[in-house]
Amino acid sequence: MTSQPIADLSADDLAALLEEQRKAYEELKGRGLKLDLTRGKPSAEQLDLSDELLTLPRGTRDASGTDVRNYGGLSGLQELREMFAELLWVEPEQVVAGGNSSLTMMRDCLVYLMLFGGVDSERPWNREEKVRFVCPVPGYDRHFTLLESLGIEMVTVPFNEDGPDVAAVKALVAEDASIKGMWVVPTYANPTGATTSQEVAAELAGMPTAAPDFKIFWDNAYALHHLTEEEAKSADILTLAAAAGHPHRPIMFASTSKITFAGAGVAFLAASTKTVAWYLDHLGKGSIGPDKINHLRHVQFFGSAQGVRDHMVRHRQIIAPKFEEVDRVLTERLGGLDIATWNKPQGGYFVNLDVLPGTASRVVELAREAGVALTPAGSSFPYKRDPENTNIRLAPTMPPLPEVTEAMEAVATCVLLAAAEKLAAEKA
Ligand code: PMP
Repeated sequence: MTSQPIADLSADDLAALLEEQRKAYEELKGRGLKLDLTRGKPSAEQLDLSDELLTLPRGTRDASGTDVRNYGGLSGLQELREMFAELLWVEPEQVVAGGNSSLTMMRDCLVYLMLFGGVDSERPWNREEKVRFVCPVPGYDRHFTLLESLGIEMVTVPFNEDGPDVAAVKALVAEDASIKGMWVVPTYANPTGATTSQEVAAELAGMPTAAPDFKIFWDNAYALHHLTEEEAKSADILTLAAAAGHPHRPIMFASTSKITFAGAGVAFLAASTKTVAWYLDHLGKGSIGPDKINHLRHVQFFGSAQGVRDHMVRHRQIIAPKFEEVDRVLTERLGGLDIATWNKPQGGYFVNLDVLPGTASRVVELAREAGVALTPAGSSFPYKRDPENTNIRLAPTMPPLPEVTEAMEAVATCVLLAAAEKLAAEKA
């Protein structure tokens, strides 16, 4: 096997490599694998860390004596709001503790904005001729499908190492009043792992926008999901925006989906107190209160904000070796060949793999036929259109470590075969 850039090989050597990779791939298919690297789900071992929740809560009263079994308390249990306010660097009165999904809170905010407008809107967004959002790419696929479902158009900007490309964002939002908002996954972004810097956050918080009610959907889903001891600190977007005179611009989201149970955690929203009141006013038309029993058991399970941080260390101990394994296999199999680049994330749930332009969908197809499910190529882009057909999102947390190894060996073989096919075709 070569370790020089494949593009430098002679036509004969390339033909030999292609042959070699075809054989390796046939052998791979013969193994009858059934592996899945598609979605960023916690593994069973991670879920087990929170099993004590199944025996909680002890008692039925919160700190103020309220019976959590009953209706009420739309903004969530005060103790839990305080705990997560500390973790998200905001004030408790700016936080709502809700149901089990932050994505639902994002959807609700967008629907309220469309139907009613925000606290700073001239009219409901659906009365505008057109509503558009800035989408840093690659990004989270469900953000994009959510916008698409509401008829909100998407304009892409690059997501750099230090966050969204500020110059590109500024140029878009300054002139065009139809651009009403943007997504930012500020910490260990899905899928690139990038963390938005203080400087970029400050610019986004303060930039002039043609739309008076421009919103930053600050989805801090991975705020606490460190993979190393060096823990990234999220920029304090609410304070930055308030200081810049745009207090209602950011709406922050987070959840315990990847802290306790992905299907039965608690989601949080944080924003200016006026925006929180706006959200609760609309929410209250359809809910008398959240599942406070779940809130109380989370309070008892964690004990404190430090309890949450300690719990995240146990997650890290389980998943960090899986991320290391992804990097080891890719480095050993693809290093030096100039056919792929990938990141070594410091946190979050994904590895972002860029293969030779034009080959991502072929890699995913080859992997599928060999029994390894990968997220469809293009998923991390609006309308599933990756203009370069180069990007693949890998999610290694769910399978046990030996399966991560096996799946990554298979991915490497598929990347090599797709690259050899492409380069051989070009040289032919
Ligand atoms: N935001 C991002 C960036 C995510 O990656 C995910 C889960 N994959 C979510 C939100 C979903 O969060 P929740 O479970 O709280 O709805």
